[in-house]
Amino acid sequence: MLIKITEFFKNLPRKKCMDCGHEIEEQHECYGNRCCDCLNIKDL
Ligand SMILES: [Zn+2]
Repeated sequence: MLIKITEFFKNLPRKKCMDCGHEIEEQHECYGNRCCDCLNIKDL
């Protein structure tokens, strides 16, 4: 029943930024569904 965390995340589909449609890097923690660029813009 145990699932390796790494295997679990590998099977996840790549997320896309809801603003620009750019693929979000898997290694980034997701705050919503925006890429780093859009997050930076948002912080302004
Ligand atoms: Zn974006």
